[in-house]
Amino acid sequence: MKGILGLLAVLLLATPVMAADIKNVRIWLAPDHTRLVFDLSGPVKHNIFSLENPDRLVVDMDDSRLQANLDRLGIQNSPISNIRQSRQADGTQRIVLDLNSKIEPRSFTLAPNAQYGHRLVLDLQKTEADTPAPAIIKEPAQVPGTPLVLRDIVVAIDAGHGGEDPGALGPGGLREKDVVIAIAKEVYRRLESTPGYKPVMVRKSDYYVSLRGRTKLAREHNADLFVSIHADAFKDSRANGASVWVISDRGATGEVGRWLAQKENSADAIGGVVSLDDKDEVLAGVLLDMSMTFSMEGSRQVADRVHKNIGKFARMHKPFVEQAGFVVLKSPGIPSILVETGFISNPDEARKLKSRKYQSQMAAAIAEGIKDYFWHRPPAMTHLAHRKNGGQLAALSGRTHKVSRGDTLSVIAARNGVSLSALRAANGLSSDKIRIGQVLKIPSS
Ligand SMILES: [Zn+2]
Repeated sequence: MKGILGLLAVLLLATPVMAADIKNVRIWLAPDHTRLVFDLSGPVKHNIFSLENPDRLVVDMDDSRLQANLDRLGIQNSPISNIRQSRQADGTQRIVLDLNSKIEPRSFTLAPNAQYGHRLVLDLQKTEADTPAPAIIKEPAQVPGTPLVLRDIVVAIDAGHGGEDPGALGPGGLREKDVVIAIAKEVYRRLESTPGYKPVMVRKSDYYVSLRGRTKLAREHNADLFVSIHADAFKDSRANGASVWVISDRGATGEVGRWLAQKENSADAIGGVVSLDDKDEVLAGVLLDMSMTFSMEGSRQVADRVHKNIGKFARMHKPFVEQAGFVVLKSPGIPSILVETGFISNPDEARKLKSRKYQSQMAAAIAEGIKDYFWHRPPAMTHLAHRKNGGQLAALSGRTHKVSRGDTLSVIAARNGVSLSALRAANGLSSDKIRIGQVLKIPSS
């Protein structure tokens, strides 16, 4: 063991001195953090530390030189009030961020990939006190005798990519991340204006959310459905057509499916996520098996409807819903679909996807598919389920009474201020016979 450590030390010392230019700096504002990304000409050794009174964060990069202009970085609405830089005598490039609120810093480097070269990522995480607590909504427990609590149907709308990850690139600099957030926002507006629905945007603007972060957010909101929206590229620009996908554990249907799943699943590497936890992966696999059958059926039913709707105005890649191993669809228990709104790599489709009209047509097809599905399968205790029941329960006060020893129908009626006949009618009773433990609906008086 000692020998190995010794060898490692020697190897580390033997690493050649790294020198890098900082060529460009980007900033992304997310609700819970601000991300700074430094594009580097090569690998760099760095160090960060915080200073107080006033709050500052210092980033030192060994043997480097800033070649980018920091003045044009849009730091408004970020925790950074000012950026300064200086170069030390030993060649260290120092960057000082003056901060206007408390943050927890995190930094890591990323190796080059197809989209970017070497990067240094600096995350300024809002501290607990500054971050609004996620809205964790518990299924309301129905206690007999208390008002009936109905809830809205929660739909998590996931616009693919964002921030560091532009997604697929189309002609004329068209970026997938911009097209899909426009469509996602329109789906949001449509559901929000529909009574009984509570849509949630997974990412609200131009920042990256990890694939795991996306499904986690859906779970935190107790989503009834997860819809991921994309507009992808294929190596062959002739490839065209929209498609709707559900998860597959047994590989993808066809070459395009394999290609797309591989591309979507590598988004974390581009968006700036270090690595997935292996243990997490195994656990996820187990959970997945347990609850997948339940959510698979729902996923298919929504996917079929959305597929049919889009097919009314767009060319479809296949005449049926396709399957592939998209990480983002692996949300145990939550029906999940992924909509590829078209191939941004196809000039004709790129032109359509860019237009407001086509985007809103696409959004309508998705939103209507979702609504149609939930109308046929409304989750229990939702406003929609009760509306579907002909408003019977809506006409009730929402109260119930559990019959206990000694109760008579007339006493229950009197105690609740309703007439005996109304109480009979609300419960479909032809006589005044009731039994202990029976739960009676109390009509509104
Ligand atoms: Zn995509």
